[in-house]
Amino acid sequence: MSTVQIKKDLLRQILGNAASMHPREMLLLLRGKKNKDQITITDLLVPPLAVHGRGFTGFQAHMLPMDFSLVGTVHSHPSGALEPSLVDLHHSFGRIIMIVAFPYQNENNVAVFSHSK
Ligand SMILES: [Zn+2]
Repeated sequence: MSTVQIKKDLLRQILGNAASMHPREMLLLLRGKKNKDQITITDLLVPPLAVHGRGFTGFQAHMLPMDFSLVGTVHSHPSGALEPSLVDLHHSFGRIIMIVAFPYQNENNVAVFSHSK
C-alpha cells in the first residue's frame, strides 16, 4: 500500500477545475515525488491535446515529454461515482488514479487508487 499526500490548496485547485468543467470531464496530470511507498503530489499539469467530453476524457500518452516526476492523473466523474471505471483502470498512466466526483466539494468527493506497473 502506498500513501498519497496532497496539499489542501492543490486539492482545492483540482476540485475548482473539475467544477468549472462540469458537466464535462476534466483530466490533469499529477507531478510529485516518490519516496519508497510515499507519494507526495506537488504540481498539476495540463496534458497536451487533452480531449474533453461527456463520459470521455483522454490524452495521447505518446505526446508526453519524458518526465519521471509524473506520478499519475486526476480526472473528474460528473456522475458522482467515486469508483474508477474499467476504462480508467486499463488506460491509466503512472502510479496514481485520482478521481474527483460531483459535487466536487471537499475530500469526501475525492478517491485515490494506486497500482504498481
Ligand atoms: Zn473515470
